[in-house]
Amino acid sequence: MTPLVDTFKRPITYLRLSVTDRCDLRCAYCMPERMTFLPKAEVLTLEELRMLAQAFIGRGVRKIRLTGGEPLVRRDMIDLVHALGREIGNGLDELTLTTNGMRLAEFAPALRDAGVRRVNVSLDTRDAQLFAKLTRRDGLSQVLAGIAAAKAIGLEVKLNTVALKGLNEAELPTLIQWAHGEGHAITLIEVMPLGEIEGDRFDHYLPLSAVRERLERLWTLSPSGHRSGGPARYFDIRETGGRLGLITPLTSNFCDGCNRVRVSATGQLFMCLGGEGQVDLRAALRSGEAGALDSALDRAMVLKPERHAFRIDRRGEAPALARHMSVTGG
Ligand code: SAM
Ligand code: SF4
Repeated sequence: MTPLVDTFKRPITYLRLSVTDRCDLRCAYCMPERMTFLPKAEVLTLEELRMLAQAFIGRGVRKIRLTGGEPLVRRDMIDLVHALGREIGNGLDELTLTTNGMRLAEFAPALRDAGVRRVNVSLDTRDAQLFAKLTRRDGLSQVLAGIAAAKAIGLEVKLNTVALKGLNEAELPTLIQWAHGEGHAITLIEVMPLGEIEGDRFDHYLPLSAVRERLERLWTLSPSGHRSGGPARYFDIRETGGRLGLITPLTSNFCDGCNRVRVSATGQLFMCLGGEGQVDLRAALRSGEAGALDSALDRAMVLKPERHAFRIDRRGEAPALARHMSVTGG
């Protein structure tokens, strides 16, 4: 089979596969409290997810990250992880997931047994009150227990933190120090204009260029050669002995080496987190025609834009894209 390569000659080797749009938190920058979720019938079945993943592996994808919504709220999620875990070493190099950590304590052993070695856990604060304000739910102790359980059974944990002006801004150095003390790498992310929320993301937009300047007054940051296959640029911090990633979609564009595509829980293939180009893989799957999925993948390669066009520099401006991050899973 021909490997997937886009029109800018970028090989597509990394798939982020959303298994549900549902979530047990309501992070204020991600979705409104009264989020409308998809009817279950529209979401791909376990078998369809497996077939899709296999088609991508057959065309050169080597890394799959399961995401959502919250992937661990889907009931048959562990069955999917087991099915995809069997592909590790047969074309697939790595199977990972991004989770809010709420159910991680329960599922960490099953994830590890299925072949997962690393998990990304989203944690914006270690302050219980701020956690409840940001996620509109109580749950910090559950998430921290999830992180501890994953570590205890040998899963590598990487933390993802959205940097938010006036919210977790002051806590970022202590959060980084704590993460490194626990042996976890941590990556900061700029908030992106995806989907309507209550309020204006501009109010809490914090450019990571400013965060980096402040951290450099505290610590010695040296650029690291580490690459994760994702968009983060990494720095080693001498004083904490850990690694810090920065994902800066707004302040500096990272599209040149993009190797990623995303599939929503309904089987829409999005060629760019920040673009509209999409192809309906569910229709191809359900058509029952041999070769329909492969030709849909070929069509999609033409739609990958050279770069995203995010901006978040004006108060009151509508989101760049109507779809929420929980549709494509980040
Ligand atoms: N529910 C899981 C979680 O929170 O890790 C997986 C899906 S979530 C959409 C993936 C990542 O996207 C999380 O780290 C979250 O903080 C981030 N995210 C959500 N909305 C965002 C936005 N508008 N801008 C930047 N990051 C966002
Ligand atoms: Fe849920 Fe993740 Fe969105 Fe938070 S960021 S509401 S945990 S999908």
